[in-house]
Amino acid sequence: MAEGCIFCKIVKGELPAYKIYEDENTISFLDIFPIHPGHALVVPKKHSVDIFDTDEETMKQMIAVAKKIAPAVMKGANADAINIGMNNREASGQEVPHAHMHVIPRYSADGLKTWGKNLYKNDRHKKKLCEAIKKELE
Ligand code: 5GP
Ligand code: ZN
Repeated sequence: MAEGCIFCKIVKGELPAYKIYEDENTISFLDIFPIHPGHALVVPKKHSVDIFDTDEETMKQMIAVAKKIAPAVMKGANADAINIGMNNREASGQEVPHAHMHVIPRYSADGLKTWGKNLYKNDRHKKKLCEAIKKELE
């Protein structure tokens, strides 16, 4: 429980939410400002801020719940597709600093764009990024 955290308060039942799923470690409830109605959030009960701060077991639990609810959200919201997303840190668009995944119903003609596409400057640029990321994994 982090002081003042909205999602911790929802986990503890101190704030209301339209809960669609709950188990020992995770809850899922409707996003208050949905991209489309049925947009759900998957939230670990244990407070952590983002993916960098969340242990692997908790990430697995979140993914398992996203996997479980995705078909239900899709059918329940009569959607054609689902986006799964997680914002991590402010520059990514994260507004609530309690780790969570979005399960978002999508429709064939909803006109929403996810994010734009970009190009590498050249193959050297590509190789440099590839090496930089691999080095971090060593
Ligand atoms: P983020 O931008 O941090 O990835 O997503 C946070 C999401 O939480 C937003 O889509 C926002 O609409 C939702 N949200 C913020 N406050 C509340 C709340 O009090 N209750 C619910 N159900 N959703 C919230
Ligand atoms: Zn929290």
